[in-house]
Amino acid sequence: MPVTSLADILKPAFEQRYGVPAINIVNDLTMENVLAGAVEARSPIIVQTSVKTVKTIGAHVLYAMWEAMTRGIEVPACLHLDHCPERQVISDCLAEGWNSVLFDASLLPVEENQRQTVEVVAEARRYGAHVEGEIESITGQEDGVGSDEESRQQTAEVTLTYLRETGVDVFAPAIGNAHGRYKRAPILDFQRVTDLVAAHPIPMALHGGSGLSNEQFQDLIARGCAKVNISTALKERFMQSSLAYLKEAEAADKWDPPSLFKVVAADIRDLTKGYAEVFGSAGKA
Ligand SMILES: [Zn+2]
Repeated sequence: MPVTSLADILKPAFEQRYGVPAINIVNDLTMENVLAGAVEARSPIIVQTSVKTVKTIGAHVLYAMWEAMTRGIEVPACLHLDHCPERQVISDCLAEGWNSVLFDASLLPVEENQRQTVEVVAEARRYGAHVEGEIESITGQEDGVGSDEESRQQTAEVTLTYLRETGVDVFAPAIGNAHGRYKRAPILDFQRVTDLVAAHPIPMALHGGSGLSNEQFQDLIARGCAKVNISTALKERFMQSSLAYLKEAEAADKWDPPSLFKVVAADIRDLTKGYAEVFGSAGKA
């Protein structure tokens, strides 16, 4: 199965209660090896780009990379724009061919967020694309988007009104999760996921996945978190893998970039396969 929509990837995951790794890539090497790891694990995969990555590399070049790297791919894959408060970047990525976007208007009053999300959903539909919604900022910053203040949950009534009125395909609830490194063990509101899914059965997106335990992942996936975001863990693996290799290169005084890429690539594939195993998506494609 080739590149497909976010909804097509999440539907079986939500029904069968496994989680699809949604991994933020930072460049060509990480995109290629997240995809390769998913193929090796026979797992569906969601490749995510932050607004920062889109602006650094350029939507056009990023999309050209995506097209070239997914040509003939054997597992369901889609390209998703992570936390984006900027409508123009959303429009640019949808026009380029991104399969889905997270419109992050969580810093706006919820009524205004809802009004604009309706517009974003209509815009995405014109491209056959899908939308993840968010009304509470997830604690912590993700590539410069968001705030370090503890996030506050909206009431069930406000949340369900937003979900019904906007028709978003996926929802990212604040449940005590956070971006970046957890400073202390998170206390998660598991019940909120169960309650939201019972009242409005759409896949939930779990943010702040880097640093949760396998038990926490699996509990939340069983409750309906079909999309599990991983960003910090990839960045750390990328940098630490590079650093370890560079120290060896320095000690040996041998400076061969392709050897560095090879080591980092293998680590990114392992990271992707590891999450696919934990989330239960391995073997599903
Ligand atoms: Zn996030």
